[in-house]
Amino acid sequence: MAKYIFITGGVVSSLGKGVTAASIGRLLINRRLRIRMVKMDPYLNVDPGTMNPFQHGEVYVTDDGAETDLDLGHYERFTGQPTSKRSNYTSGRIYWDVLNKERRGDYLGGTIQMIPHITDEIKACIRAADDKDVDVVLVEIGGTVGDIEGLTFLEAIRQMGLEEGRDNVMYIHLTYVPFIRAAGEIKTKPSQQSVAKLREIGITPDVLICRSEVAISEDARRKLSLFCNVPVHAVIEERDVAHSIYEIPLVLFEQGLDELIMVHFRLARPPSRLADWRAMVDAVIHPKHKVRIGVVGKYSDLQDAYKSIYEALTHGGMAHQTGVEIIKIGAEAIESGEAAADLARVHGILVPGGFGSRGIEGKIQSVRYARENGVPFLGICLGLQCAVIEYARNVCGLAGANSTEIDKATPHPVVCLMSEQEKVIDLGGTMRLGAWACALKAGSLAAKLYGSTSISERHRHRYEVSNKHRPQLEAAGLSLSGTSPDGALVEMVELPGHPYFIATQAHPEFKSQPLAPHPLFAGLVGAALKRCTEKK
Ligand code: GLN
Repeated sequence: MAKYIFITGGVVSSLGKGVTAASIGRLLINRRLRIRMVKMDPYLNVDPGTMNPFQHGEVYVTDDGAETDLDLGHYERFTGQPTSKRSNYTSGRIYWDVLNKERRGDYLGGTIQMIPHITDEIKACIRAADDKDVDVVLVEIGGTVGDIEGLTFLEAIRQMGLEEGRDNVMYIHLTYVPFIRAAGEIKTKPSQQSVAKLREIGITPDVLICRSEVAISEDARRKLSLFCNVPVHAVIEERDVAHSIYEIPLVLFEQGLDELIMVHFRLARPPSRLADWRAMVDAVIHPKHKVRIGVVGKYSDLQDAYKSIYEALTHGGMAHQTGVEIIKIGAEAIESGEAAADLARVHGILVPGGFGSRGIEGKIQSVRYARENGVPFLGICLGLQCAVIEYARNVCGLAGANSTEIDKATPHPVVCLMSEQEKVIDLGGTMRLGAWACALKAGSLAAKLYGSTSISERHRHRYEVSNKHRPQLEAAGLSLSGTSPDGALVEMVELPGHPYFIATQAHPEFKSQPLAPHPLFAGLVGAALKRCTEKK
């Protein structure tokens, strides 16, 4: 039977609960424990697949095709463990399943209630993560303690403490300890109140992790311990890190959090100094080289819209001991000419995935700039589609070429709806999702980078390169270097003779990890580094 760690958040949102949970996961992996991570999101959407990045940031896709919360990206990057459909549930999903059971007659004669029906469903979803080879299940509860919509989740995890036995369940509460500049001191009251709220529900945290901008004094630590009913050694400081989120496992380790967990669960596992992780962090903090990569998207002002892309670029840098400065370039600023200087100062250009027409011409212009000026280029999903449109227009001479997503009446629909999508009406969970195999042409740049001609990557799209236009594109010199194994779908394109010009219909960023940088991103940074040194 697995042990359970529940991670809740208090005081404010955006504390980095996902990164903290993922960091705890990393500590346990280094203790040779087999873990699973689950995220519970209290909102009512069935999944985040239909939410826009302003609402939710990036939608993270798993191998089995679930559209999930971006915290699952942190889980995979920090722990190296794949997540799945069983790693993320929303209130919407839970209610949906309960209501479907009710309609089917599963509860015939009964009144369906929050307790026990919704809480039972939540507990069943959490326990579904306890496969036979799992030692610890870590469950992050989204939102902030005190939110109405989070109450059923807190009630469910309270019940689990009773049912599993208090020694088999650990509650970790992440809180915020603000520094009040005018008073010149940190304040513990918001944390006291957040923990009081939890205790009202019947949960007493075993560990308090305190996010803060400044050091937490011994005095403040004792105060937090007393008022929050947590032993002093279980009050852990998580101060803002100077360089990289990958420092956080080390910060928690230095304060003995993994040992605390071992003692609580009475687990005897060899200690680990996190040597592999430490070496990686050291390389991130002390890069030998620096490059600038421009990411041309329509959400360039949002932190979270391209989370996995930004992380994968950082990993790509690690492969070359290179620090990657990411220049966020607004696609619309390229259209208006305001971003010309930005394009000119980057050593590599990445066009990420996206939907809809806003900024599309700016993305296409930046592909053209990369192609004509020998600037290393990586296109991702919509980025591949932009590369194909640009090539069709400016090399094949197909004026007005476009994707039918953008222009239904285009004279040259070089990107069009996949046939399987034509009958699709519902928008939730209906794209071509999850891991799909791809066959790479022997001798191609892609095959060289991957070191293989048969690969698998995650997908999230409805449109594809039009098969009718393939001969024309190829005749003009664009290499269609990857296709689905049956040859029906173009998966990868590249431009022989260019220093680095490659685009994929997939989302390789989801599989990149700090201890295993993805070859396409490592390749981009490598080529950018070459350009940067040659230019000097
Ligand atoms: N909008 C495009 C499609 O649906 C690209 C999707 C994406 O970039 N994820 O095919």
